[in-house]
Amino acid sequence: MGNRPELGWRHYRRLREQILAASDTCHWCGHPGADALDHLVPTSKGGARVDPANLAPIHGVAGCPSCGRKCNNEKGDDEAPAARLTTSRDWYSPLP
Ligand SMILES: [Zn+2]
Ligand SMILES: [Zn+2]
Repeated sequence: MGNRPELGWRHYRRLREQILAASDTCHWCGHPGADALDHLVPTSKGGARVDPANLAPIHGVAGCPSCGRKCNNEKGDDEAPAARLTTSRDWYSPLP
């Protein structure tokens, strides 16, 4: 026991509100209106999941109202966006 992800999730949501209240400028495209948080160092690479120093505002599923980019989709969970651009996988299509 001791692993209680629900607590972490509530903490994360609270943190998200605080960070977005302080700034909603997307760190990915530089426009305001961000409604999600991005991990600067992905948790898959050892980044802290609930640490303000590792979180930055980013446009979520709704995309950026200024440039239309789906910033969080573009970045995904990878540090290297250039590598991701080479894939053409449709993440929303059902698995065969
Ligand atoms: Zn953005
Ligand atoms: Zn933008």
